[in-house]
Amino acid sequence: MNILSEFGLADPQSPSQEVFTNVSTKKRYAIATQGALVSLLSLFSIATHSAEPTATNASVTDGPYVFLNQGQENTAYWICQSELKQTPIANNQLARPNDCGNLPQPLRHDEAPQIEADTYTHAGKIVALSDVHGQFDVMINLLKAHKIIDENNHWAFGDGHMVMTGDMFDRGHQVNEVLWFLYELDKEAQAAGGRLHLLMGNHEQMVFRGDLRYVNERYQTSAELLNRSYDALYNKDTEIGRWLRSKNTLVKINNLLFMHGGISPEWVERKLNISDANQLFRQHLDDKKEDLKQNDLLNFLFFTNGPTWYRGYFKDALSEKEIDQILNYFKVDHIIVGHTSQDRVLGLYHNKIIAIDSSIKNGQSGELLLIDKDKLTRGLYQGEQVQL
Ligand code: ZN
Repeated sequence: MNILSEFGLADPQSPSQEVFTNVSTKKRYAIATQGALVSLLSLFSIATHSAEPTATNASVTDGPYVFLNQGQENTAYWICQSELKQTPIANNQLARPNDCGNLPQPLRHDEAPQIEADTYTHAGKIVALSDVHGQFDVMINLLKAHKIIDENNHWAFGDGHMVMTGDMFDRGHQVNEVLWFLYELDKEAQAAGGRLHLLMGNHEQMVFRGDLRYVNERYQTSAELLNRSYDALYNKDTEIGRWLRSKNTLVKINNLLFMHGGISPEWVERKLNISDANQLFRQHLDDKKEDLKQNDLLNFLFFTNGPTWYRGYFKDALSEKEIDQILNYFKVDHIIVGHTSQDRVLGLYHNKIIAIDSSIKNGQSGELLLIDKDKLTRGLYQGEQVQL
């Protein structure tokens, strides 16, 4: 559990965060984990009956990490009971050291990642979920319950398309497990004629630009042992960081448009298009917040009314006519979003907007959305399927 979020900082743009804004992010993280604040924070941790171990008193098993810097590219780094270990990577296979828990042992991709198409027609079955936030077990249970993956966590969805609408990072305690699983699933889906669309959310953007307020405390141990800041564990010179930086932020599949937050009327006023936006997101993922804020278009794309932050559908801010105008602009029938948490997959505006952040982040359960032609179905946590 991220303790800062317990202080009501769930929305990093809310005014209550202003107290922190003149301290640099990394310093802030350090402050929050050292000195006088520690006792206050640990009190909160106890008060909220957190099930998560804290970085200070629990042993951490985490990894692997693969850095692409010269001389390091054939070594995998592991944190085994709070000790740094390394193993050689042979034939792209990562092998876990002995006594290092159940950490993933992925097969590294051979080639540098390619930028994928962001518009698809004639796709068959589709499944979508969102906001996993490091809850690996919940995600796996859900995907298994609906036979998207098999008993051994391998792709079982044939030529189907799976869409993750962002926010893999932050809050939860199994972020690496989630990322390496998706890294492998990406290749498996392609090999089967299907696709995994991993869209970037605001928490990917935050980590990439070094905003570490929501990182689970246990990763402080990993960062210290690897002698890097947390964001540097995923920079462009890492296997996972390079792969993620090739991904899109929006994707259009058949009559459906997917992204993390939503499309605001401002997007339409600005006459933007999906491919240009995806390109701009990729180009500027590592930019500093101050720099993004200084550019009118990037300030729109990366913040409040942009596709990874927008919450207008949930505030009665728009009439159904305005929703129709947005749908018409893209020539789609549905927009599918995460980011704004619900307790289920929820249809709004007669299912024109579908909210799929089903609060997997709480680590208890979750839902996914199944789409087969015009049939929209909620996939519940135990495997039941209910029409939306
Ligand atoms: Zn979000």
